[in-house]
Amino acid sequence: MEKMNRVILSLGSNINDRILHLKEALQQIEEKAGSISQKSSVYETEAIGFISDIPFYNMCIEVETSLSPELLLKKTQEIEIEIGRSKKTTQYYESRKIDIDIIFYASRIIETTTLTIPHRNFHQRKFVLLPLQEINQNLIDPRSLENINDLIALCTDNSYIKITSIIV
Ligand code: AMP
Repeated sequence: MEKMNRVILSLGSNINDRILHLKEALQQIEEKAGSISQKSSVYETEAIGFISDIPFYNMCIEVETSLSPELLLKKTQEIEIEIGRSKKTTQYYESRKIDIDIIFYASRIIETTTLTIPHRNFHQRKFVLLPLQEINQNLIDPRSLENINDLIALCTDNSYIKITSIIV
């Protein structure tokens, strides 16, 4: 039997119909990457690092996958392209239909030219930490060995974030 690994993905959208983009991403993740075992609420968050007309919608999901980390990245990038992520025109952050980041891959620590897992900035972003806590209150960061509650207490991100009642 294939070995299944539990991974956490962070999804975000801030163009046009953000809920539609999140829905499409969830559907394609089920089809191409693995089965979704947990879904957080949708959070409305202010764009960090650039000016945006509309706020982001962000959420985290837990997925059971048989894909290796590299193949999972390949699939999530294919999904981003399919949903119509516009190619980056600058080195800076900008609006996007869907962004999918791999936050955790089981409790592995991975550093390659294409992948950093746990995701390099996740502990500095409330829009990742709060949905993560919703999914798993006992989560431990394998790099810092801090648990999710301590990571939230230590996080200095003061940007606006609000849980919404939207279900996707
Ligand atoms: P971004 O445009 O901010 O989504 O960054 C995408 C790039 O980050 C890709 O070229 C990936 O190779 C790289 N990357 C490194 N670590 C990760 C990760 N944990 N999840 C997703 N992309 C990653």
